[in-house]
Amino acid sequence: MLAEGVRAEVAVDLAALRGNLAALRGKAPSADLMAVVKADGYGHGALPCALEALASGVRWLGTATPEEALALRAAGIAPEQARILCWLWTPGGPWAQALRARIDVSVSGQWALTELLEAVRATGIPARVHLKADTGLGRNGCQPHDWPELVGAALRAEAEGLLQVVGIWSHFACADEPGHPSVRAQQEAFAAMLAYAERAGAAPEVRHLANSPATLLYPESHYDLVRTGLAMYGVSPVPEVGSPADFGLRPVMSLSARLALVKQVPGGHGVSYGHQYHTQGETTLGLVPVGYADGIPRHASSTGQVQVAGKWRTVAGRVAMDQFVVDLGGDTPEVGEQVLIFGNGERGEPTAEDWARASGTIAYEIVTRIGSRVPRRYLGGTGALG
Ligand SMILES: *Cc1c(COP(=O)(O)O)cnc(C)c1O
Repeated sequence: MLAEGVRAEVAVDLAALRGNLAALRGKAPSADLMAVVKADGYGHGALPCALEALASGVRWLGTATPEEALALRAAGIAPEQARILCWLWTPGGPWAQALRARIDVSVSGQWALTELLEAVRATGIPARVHLKADTGLGRNGCQPHDWPELVGAALRAEAEGLLQVVGIWSHFACADEPGHPSVRAQQEAFAAMLAYAERAGAAPEVRHLANSPATLLYPESHYDLVRTGLAMYGVSPVPEVGSPADFGLRPVMSLSARLALVKQVPGGHGVSYGHQYHTQGETTLGLVPVGYADGIPRHASSTGQVQVAGKWRTVAGRVAMDQFVVDLGGDTPEVGEQVLIFGNGERGEPTAEDWARASGTIAYEIVTRIGSRVPRRYLGGTGALG
């Protein structure tokens, strides 16, 4: 239920998060688990989710940017509690701050190693480095033909005591497409690049490759550490293969709003910008006070579905910046009635996956884009948030 007086609210079920972490550990029993909390914990709140993960025994956190990692340390997550790895660096990034905060850094190329070593010399703090291989994703990571040079430079710096190569890692392109030939090819490329680095003298603490879909589908990719994002938030990363429940997961986020207006309108009335929708006959309209600024995809105009007083209602016309309308078909729920935009689906309510389908995207984008204007409420936690 919505908290008193709020326009809209994200409820974050931390008990579900714990259950998901336990389920994922069960899927990857031989590996450690990294809780990926980038992008504000995929919209769920990076800090509360990180604290809950730590309370349930997780020892690795992952972020994209160094700023996200630094924020976790600044909030009090100490190096003794959690390793934090961040992997998306740009020139001039906060290398020295990361070293002082004992944050593990990923290096994909020479420019990054050069900047990192300058910061190591300036601070006197040796770095913990994860060398990232591009095994086929074609995004971040070092190409095979540049790998010997990067590995060689890193190991020379290690010999000088400037850094430790603590990780060798890579990332999948198509682990969410079962049977995609690139999955096998990337595993072989990773094995080869890892073997090269180990022959050259690297002795990483952790070798890691698997994201959520690979954690669920490809045990041979688990190595020492699996990096789970979406699955930990209880959303299926492979909806064509299985629902959250099929993998023992429960969606953590639900999104609700409160009807801001209920009114009678005549037939033939245009609704919302562009009049994409016209009422069929005399009916009632309900105004839902969230829009694309809150993360409701505009592409879900006329297709997204919500529940109002237990009944399914489809978005009538365009989703606007701050609001959308549903046709209530003559029903007159009270103004202030809860509109369930998505929930965990266990009682047949709409899910983030449904919104993804309705708007031609993936559920990752739906949960991650819920805007900062929507307050988060945390339920069922055992960590520092209680
Ligand atoms: C986002 C990300 C992950 C987590 O991916 P999920 O599919 O959400 O589990 C893992 N590794 C890297 C490098 C990422 O960018």
